[in-house]
Amino acid sequence: MATIGILNLQGDVSEHFEITKQALDEMNVNAKVLKVKNPEYLLKCDAIIISGGESTVIGKLMEKTGIGKLIVDKKIPVMGTCAGMVLLAKKTDYEQPLLGLIDMEVKRNAFGRQKASFEKIIEIFGHKFEGIFIRAPYIEKVGKSVDILSIYNEKIIAVKSGKHIATAFHPELTGDTRIHKYFIKEALNCAE
Ligand code: GLN
Repeated sequence: MATIGILNLQGDVSEHFEITKQALDEMNVNAKVLKVKNPEYLLKCDAIIISGGESTVIGKLMEKTGIGKLIVDKKIPVMGTCAGMVLLAKKTDYEQPLLGLIDMEVKRNAFGRQKASFEKIIEIFGHKFEGIFIRAPYIEKVGKSVDILSIYNEKIIAVKSGKHIATAFHPELTGDTRIHKYFIKEALNCAE
């Protein structure tokens, strides 16, 4: 049976846990969801989701636990939302530990103070999606290996690279499972 891990170091972990369970139910895929706090649990996972939260804190804990290195070494597909997206980048405007799995440069807390949190309907996969942004980053630059999935206000807010997916917004807070399903389908190579 396949396992989808939710990195459980800091941030909105339970929201991802619930929506991933919901996505798997809807897809009728025989997989379970596991909260991951240590390398032993990570090794049981076929894919891992990194939540929103504080990317500096999550990054340091990933370094300390060895989880970060293991994700990279074992080539585990990653979905990162908000802080999770920051951690997937090769570079940000801060000094912080990163996984560097997606060839992109990210600017943190990038939508400005007044717009610290906002909701907007965005477009992804040719469909409308509720975009919830909370002190969100955006992507300033991508390399050739990166596919852009969504743009809002001329800023790149979602990308795919290999099996990795990153969004600046929080699909886990919407009850809409489409992006999670997309990631699971790509990561496990299964039909929806
Ligand atoms: N600003 C946070 C960071 O860069 C991300 C905020 C969030 O995940 N909601 O770490």
